[in-house]
Amino acid sequence: MVHYKRSSTALLAAAFVLLACVAIIGLDIWRTWQARVIQEREATVSVTNMARALAQHADDTLKEADTVLVGLLERLRIDGTGPEALERLHRLLAVQVKELPQLNGIFVYDNQGRWVVNSQPRLDNTQNNADREYFIYHRDHPDDGPYIGSPVRSRSTGKWIATVSRRVNNADGSFGGVVLATVDMAYFQRFYDSFDIGKSGAILLALNRGTIVFRRPLREDSIGKSMADAAIYRDHAARHASGLAVIKSSQDGVERINGYRHLDAFPLFVSVALSRDEIFAEWRADAYMHMIGVLLLVTGFALMGQRMVAQIDKRSIAENEANEARAQVEKLNQTLERLALQDGLTGLANRRQFDGALAREMSRAVRSGESLALIMIDVDRFKLYNDLYGHLSGDECLRKVGKTILSGERRPGDLAARYGGEEFAIILPDCDAAGATAIAEQIRLAVRAQQIEHAANPDGIVTVSLGVGCLPEVKQGMSVRDLIGVADQALYRAKGDGRDRVGV
Ligand code: GH3
Ligand code: MG
Ligand code: MG
Repeated sequence: MVHYKRSSTALLAAAFVLLACVAIIGLDIWRTWQARVIQEREATVSVTNMARALAQHADDTLKEADTVLVGLLERLRIDGTGPEALERLHRLLAVQVKELPQLNGIFVYDNQGRWVVNSQPRLDNTQNNADREYFIYHRDHPDDGPYIGSPVRSRSTGKWIATVSRRVNNADGSFGGVVLATVDMAYFQRFYDSFDIGKSGAILLALNRGTIVFRRPLREDSIGKSMADAAIYRDHAARHASGLAVIKSSQDGVERINGYRHLDAFPLFVSVALSRDEIFAEWRADAYMHMIGVLLLVTGFALMGQRMVAQIDKRSIAENEANEARAQVEKLNQTLERLALQDGLTGLANRRQFDGALAREMSRAVRSGESLALIMIDVDRFKLYNDLYGHLSGDECLRKVGKTILSGERRPGDLAARYGGEEFAIILPDCDAAGATAIAEQIRLAVRAQQIEHAANPDGIVTVSLGVGCLPEVKQGMSVRDLIGVADQALYRAKGDGRDRVGV
């Protein structure tokens, strides 16, 4: 079995299939990566937008509450705090609380923290709020802007509330008390619950000083607590007005994309966090599907490619085999051709080749006008040799004589042939009679020098008789027969003169 090198076409096909597979996989990886980048960008935009909306909402909510306080201060300044005025104020506050859904209550305290008037249906004067953080703040700070307190549980309703308050100034500028609006946390909760932040998402509303006001998911124990150590506050919200941060939670180990933003009008900030795992969940599922699809595609492609390469291989092997067979046939033909022109016994040119060659040399000589010589050679008393030594020895003798005669070939155009039986001939183109005679004499001596035993010959060895024929100037109309005739007659003369000689 012959092993052929893999054909270049098969290699090319294999390379093509490989390249295609790599390209498909590469493109999919790139596409998948792009999809991830886009997903992340969308999540980033989403948290940014949510933070903006939440900040706006908190701003508006607090602003509305503060606007009520500003109106209330004005009323107190103009109407004073007489029983009639307070009665009117009480009714007004009750109505205002009903109209603004975020408001839990509106309260007025005197400079001792006593309840002066509020929005509750029944006026309760027994409570004192002098211990509240906002009260202490206003008492100690003369500024008349709004103050957002830490979230507290309402003394009147028990609910978690955020407070917006302002200082009441007496005519001389001294501390006259506090007006307070409480904002219901449930109001924030309802709004925050309307956002889709996934299972692990989070929303936070906190004071700039790091106190948690509200958060989703709601953990009551965290409301009012400090978040000073939380990374989102410490490293981000406490330093910048707004921004993005990817933070891995130390509590649940979840990595989240955080968008945070400070309120425009109040010292608070909001933060929205989405879990990266959840953000990429859909992308991941899509990437897996794609990967499976691509793997199937590539596998199919590779299998088809393999078959294609095998086919190409098979074809090129067949082609190679055909080529080889053709070469063998050609070689055989050449051998046959050579055999057809060669004498089997002596290896000299056979009669067919001799006839062709002589005809060719004849016509060439006609064209060139050169001479053409022919030597005919006949083994002496060969019949007797056969009789004496047997036919096989006769064949052997002919082989030796043939080999010796071959030495008469001197020039490329010369041709020694077995003419038939024990007769040989040499064609000598462009050779005159003297030259041919000299060559004939040399052959005669060379045969003698072989010293082949022949008891029936006078000298006891095999000898040959030779006849030289020469056409000094070959002319149109001369034929091969003429030359052979001349040589034949010369040979005949040599035989007649006693053999073992050259006849001319
Ligand atoms: P001469 O030429 O000297 O007159 O005598 P001769 O005996 O050679 O006479 P002739 O040419 O008539 O005889 C030729 C003989 O050569 C006849 C045949 O037995 C023998 N011969 C011819 N071809 C072959 C051959 O191929 N092998 C053998 N062994 N003998 C052959
Ligand atoms: Mg003869
Ligand atoms: Mg003879």
